[in-house]
Amino acid sequence: MEGESRNFIEQIIDKDLAEGRFDHVQTRFPPEPNGYLHIGHAKSILLNYGLAQQYNGKFNMRFDDTNPTKEKIEFVESIKQDVQWLGADWEDRLFFASDYFPVMYDCAEKLIMKGKAYVCDLTAEQIREYRGTLTEPGKNSPYRDRSVEENLKLFREMRDGKYADGEKVLRAKIDMASPNINMRDPVIYRVAHMTHHNTGDQWCIYPMYDFAHPIEDAVEKISHSICTLEFEDHRPLYDWVVQECEFTQPPKQVEFAKLYLNNVVTGKRYIKKLVEEGIVDGWDDPRLVSISGLRRRGYTPEAIKMFVELAGVSKSNSICEMAMLEYCIREDLKLKKPRMMAILNPLKLVIDNYPEDQVEYLDAPNNLENPELGSRQLPFCKELYIEQEDFMEVPIKKYFRLFPGNEVRLMNAYFVKCTDVVKDENGNVIEVHCTYDPETKSGSGFEGRKVKGTIHWVSARHAVPVEVRLYENIIDEEKGVYNKEDGSLNLNPNSLVVVEGLVEPDLAKAEAGEKFQFVRNGFFCVDTKDSKPGKPVFNRIVSLKSSFKLPK
Ligand code: ATP
Ligand code: MG
Repeated sequence: MEGESRNFIEQIIDKDLAEGRFDHVQTRFPPEPNGYLHIGHAKSILLNYGLAQQYNGKFNMRFDDTNPTKEKIEFVESIKQDVQWLGADWEDRLFFASDYFPVMYDCAEKLIMKGKAYVCDLTAEQIREYRGTLTEPGKNSPYRDRSVEENLKLFREMRDGKYADGEKVLRAKIDMASPNINMRDPVIYRVAHMTHHNTGDQWCIYPMYDFAHPIEDAVEKISHSICTLEFEDHRPLYDWVVQECEFTQPPKQVEFAKLYLNNVVTGKRYIKKLVEEGIVDGWDDPRLVSISGLRRRGYTPEAIKMFVELAGVSKSNSICEMAMLEYCIREDLKLKKPRMMAILNPLKLVIDNYPEDQVEYLDAPNNLENPELGSRQLPFCKELYIEQEDFMEVPIKKYFRLFPGNEVRLMNAYFVKCTDVVKDENGNVIEVHCTYDPETKSGSGFEGRKVKGTIHWVSARHAVPVEVRLYENIIDEEKGVYNKEDGSLNLNPNSLVVVEGLVEPDLAKAEAGEKFQFVRNGFFCVDTKDSKPGKPVFNRIVSLKSSFKLPK
């Protein structure tokens, strides 16, 4: 680790270890199981797991399921799968905060016994009124001075179901005049007659997040409780809870800035809305930056890791560009995956001087930059398909691809020269005719003349039609994420375009999740949900053009 520049969290940990505040590093990832994870969570997961690894410590997986309203088993399972896929290993440390309800309850009684908590009968609205504002201190609740005995009796009655939701709460007795509003006697337990996904109907009182979270950390002997910046103002309360509950080796809260992506729907709440309104095809829609959506789109854990590392760890909020994430997946795949030929907008090319029934198998390297990927045999014959954009009847300036009279190389094959076109009744070119020069075969060492353009193709007789899904941002980037008038999302109607592509025969055998580069068209992944054996559906992960430059 020496010599490397240390981020601010590493500096805090170094110091804590050097000063003996902790003798170990233990971190955790504490998601609330109320949705699927997204790219922001990936940052938190990889940060926590990475620190544990780096310091020879431990990483816990903990579901923060203290809130009985929104939690679902489906979310628990998806979260576990996503964390594992990212490569963060919790070993045997998978925990549920709801398992600590008895400990939390005991902590609450302990606070009551110490005169540090009281049962309050004010309504939620009154509590808000009594709390004061940023500029004015709050007022003490009329119930603040109840005796320990009375508080204990009332709290037990709360637990035993004697009160309706909202009738009574337990509050920490701290300071109604504190400049930090979080310290103005915060509610720490509320009555909620609700069924919990783990504890069923065992409890009708539930702890509030600010009280529960520090206890969860302390019970698990977490050293550094890493969370996002919005909790900075809650840190005094965090410290108060671990101190007053008298935990030895109290954990330390450290805050960092959330990861934001420009013009991308990231928050769990908003992704949920897209899913519930049926705007996307579930939580794993390839247009989402949910982890499952990114995985289905074809992103790899390595690319996501590279991305969060490039984004860095910081104390101040900043916004990353989607282009940076796209850069990372291109970097990850460019040498690892074969470069195959697929035509997305086919135009027929007929080689007039090529024998009608002849088929040649041409040797095609799988990746020119990585010979280890070997080569394959490509069938070639008289009729081929090329991309529509690779032909122009009247070429624009600097157009080096096919046009009447021009000669280009067919990738891995021969030079062809355009001789004629066939048009339909509307004047659209539907067939391009050419002649080929047998002398110019790729790999034959031909040096007679040069051409400026190389285009890709597939053999018409051998190509396989497949469904190809081309994605754009689900948000209309020109308008921004939210509609200024009504707060709704500005959707891009072209976020999914489906085309029938023609692919070289080997690609028809591709299996779910397999990734390729399609020459000139981008990186593609076989969809895991809608593909069938022999009938792959290809998702475009990203095109080849990059607008992102790595900062020096
Ligand atoms: P969202 O804001 O999307 O609803 P959340 O913070 O409510 O997310 P939790 O399940 O409570 O989701 O979060 C689990 C952990 O992930 C927390 O430690 C949280 O701070 C962290 N986290 C959530 N969003 C981000 C983000 N955008 N960048 C970094 N960390 C995040
Ligand atoms: Mg949350």
